[in-house]
Amino acid sequence: MWRIFILGVLLVIVYFMARSALRGLFGKDKDKEVTRSVGPPGSPSDMMQDPSCGMFVPKEGSFFLQQGDRTFFFCSETCRAGYQKKIGSS
Ligand SMILES: [Zn+2]
Repeated sequence: MWRIFILGVLLVIVYFMARSALRGLFGKDKDKEVTRSVGPPGSPSDMMQDPSCGMFVPKEGSFFLQQGDRTFFFCSETCRAGYQKKIGSS
């Protein structure tokens, strides 16, 4: 009778160990996929196209022009002035 009880306890321990090991493996795989799907912070999404010359400029440290609820980014003061003149004349 005691043998059967010990065997049962051992089976339960082995079952839980196997389950946690499997969960650990799957958990690691999931983490890998999450890091893969999320791109590196602050690359192409932070580049804006200069509407004046078509060049791509980073949002930070570039010349910008607020127009209503839209913001335009420029590579230089010349481009910003040129664009301002263009929308001003039309
Ligand atoms: Zn430009």
